[in-house]
Amino acid sequence: MLKTSYTSIKEFLLVFLVLAILPSLYFFKTEQEISRQVRQTVEQKKLNQIEFSQHALDATYRKVAHAFPQIAHNGFVHRALQQQNAENIQMVEDLWLLTARGQDVYSSLRLIDAQGNELVGINHHNGYSIVVAKTRLQNTQNLSYFKQAQQLKAGEISTQNVDFEYNYRDEIVPIVRVITPIDFMNQRKGYVMVNLNFSAIFKNMMFSHHNKSFPEVVDENGYYVMSDNNQQLLGHLIPENSQYTIASTLPDLWRQMHHKVSGVIEDNQAWYLFKRVELTAFKPYMTLYLFDSVDAKELAPLIDKEVSELHIQMTGVYTLIAMISLGFVIWHAQHDKNSLDSRIARATMNGISAVIITDRANRIVFVNDEFTRLSGYKLKEVKGKRPYLFSASKYPQELYINIWKRLAARGLWQGEVVNKKKDGSLLTEIMRIQTVTDSNDVVQFYVSSFVDISERKALELRLRELSEKDSLCNLWNRRKFDIQLDDYCKRVGRYGEQEPICLALLDVDNFKLVNDQFGHDEGDKTLLYIAQMLAKHSRKTDFVARIGGEEFALLMPHTDIQQALQVVERIRCVIEDNYVRETTVSIGVTQVCLSSAHSYKRADKALYHSKQNGRNQVHSIENGPSITVEGNNALRA
Ligand code: GH3
Ligand code: MG
Ligand code: MG
Repeated sequence: MLKTSYTSIKEFLLVFLVLAILPSLYFFKTEQEISRQVRQTVEQKKLNQIEFSQHALDATYRKVAHAFPQIAHNGFVHRALQQQNAENIQMVEDLWLLTARGQDVYSSLRLIDAQGNELVGINHHNGYSIVVAKTRLQNTQNLSYFKQAQQLKAGEISTQNVDFEYNYRDEIVPIVRVITPIDFMNQRKGYVMVNLNFSAIFKNMMFSHHNKSFPEVVDENGYYVMSDNNQQLLGHLIPENSQYTIASTLPDLWRQMHHKVSGVIEDNQAWYLFKRVELTAFKPYMTLYLFDSVDAKELAPLIDKEVSELHIQMTGVYTLIAMISLGFVIWHAQHDKNSLDSRIARATMNGISAVIITDRANRIVFVNDEFTRLSGYKLKEVKGKRPYLFSASKYPQELYINIWKRLAARGLWQGEVVNKKKDGSLLTEIMRIQTVTDSNDVVQFYVSSFVDISERKALELRLRELSEKDSLCNLWNRRKFDIQLDDYCKRVGRYGEQEPICLALLDVDNFKLVNDQFGHDEGDKTLLYIAQMLAKHSRKTDFVARIGGEEFALLMPHTDIQQALQVVERIRCVIEDNYVRETTVSIGVTQVCLSSAHSYKRADKALYHSKQNGRNQVHSIENGPSITVEGNNALRA
């Protein structure tokens, strides 16, 4: 049992391992793939973002480039520059207030006269537009952008590198200044200048992108012009931030940015994705770099999530494999048992015993080869028939009733039976019949197996005959006679006068003379002749024995003394009359009593009387006085 379960466990593990190999390899590869895939997905997302930002930035620039001439060159602006009265100024202010509110990307709009005096100022931050008070308007004539603008030809639009201004909350706002001169009749009348709010442009992009994370933007010197972290903005303009240039903080990235339009580089625990953007809406063209980073730490939870999903899958698959393996082991054990059972059954079926299997109605369903060999019947000849077919009809009905009773009570019967072969000859068998029941103890089959003991039986019979028969005359011998006499005495004891039995003893008269005159062989022939006469003229039920040299006995059941006297007298006459030589016998008869010794003695005594009275006669002794029947007497007649 222990061994079986140990084997089953081994088998289970083996099947499990074999089945699990491929899924395990798959899971192993997938787990390896996961971090790569997560990284790729995140990377792609960021790249998409950068790409989107680049397009949005470019599109905004183009829109501004398209809108700016309309802001600068319109009737209100021209009038205000020609006639700087309050009304005209007011008109421009009103128009620009609407423009600032509508566009949202301008942080300030300025109308400046040819001498650098600001005539109109609109500031716009966080959705609020205000008109700059007259007192706060300044003269810009000494400022660099004014000086540059003075160099511009009529109609030219100029932008400058990213600069900054402070909003009303004193926060740094990166801006790009766009300026164009306004000339009439070849005479410079003033300038229109707008500051494009970088934050606002990016915020718009963010808004449309539904994403909180946003790429960092650096200018062509590596200074941040847009960043999540305001502290590192515009290092080239704000001294406190001067150390923030990716040229020094991320030199590898910076190199790559100059090398390629876009790309990815890995640096320590993070990697960076970048894209170069050329803004060509205004002159001079502006080059910016957008980049974003992915921190390895950001990936960990994403990877963990994917991996734990994979682990759930793995658990499911391994459970399934375990169930399949278990199913296989159970099936295999069952199959093993079945095949063992069937091997045992086959071995039994084709063993040395003949086997007949009958169903519960006792109709033959199976016989084995040995049965066919012994009985001569093939399965197809006997299938569906009852085994009575083989019966030699030797037995009384009671025997069969007993067999069935025994089978019902114990499920087993064993005994010796004689059956008939197909050719009609007899077969002595030691038979064993066993029932096969179902779980409710209802008989389903009878399995009869037998071995042929015919030869043994014949030998037994022969040996018995040899020990009980007289070889010369082929009659029962003295030994068998004694047994038979005892047996008859017992019957007398049981049935008494209802069933009288008589005993006759015969002795050849003067036999010695036969031997002496004609030789021993001739004597033997005479003995054989007498034996034959005895057998022939007695009844089938009579018992004839040679009990001595020239002495014979005849036991006659169901015969009273009178009938016995008639029988033996007839025999005496036959012997006397028919043989070539004169041969006579003396006979003593008696009725068998309870004692064999007494019965014998009385018959012997009667014989003695016959001898004494001159031989060739019959004498009987009953319980009373003896009767002598002499030769040539009335009986004989
Ligand atoms: P009685 O009439 O008084 O019976 O005389 P008897 O000669 O028959 O009696 P006895 O007993 O003197 O002789 C029996 C003889 O039978 C003796 C023996 O030689 C002979 N005898 C016994 N057995 C055999 C046998 O098997 N074959 C032959 N040929 N003779 C036998
Ligand atoms: Mg004798
Ligand atoms: Mg004799």
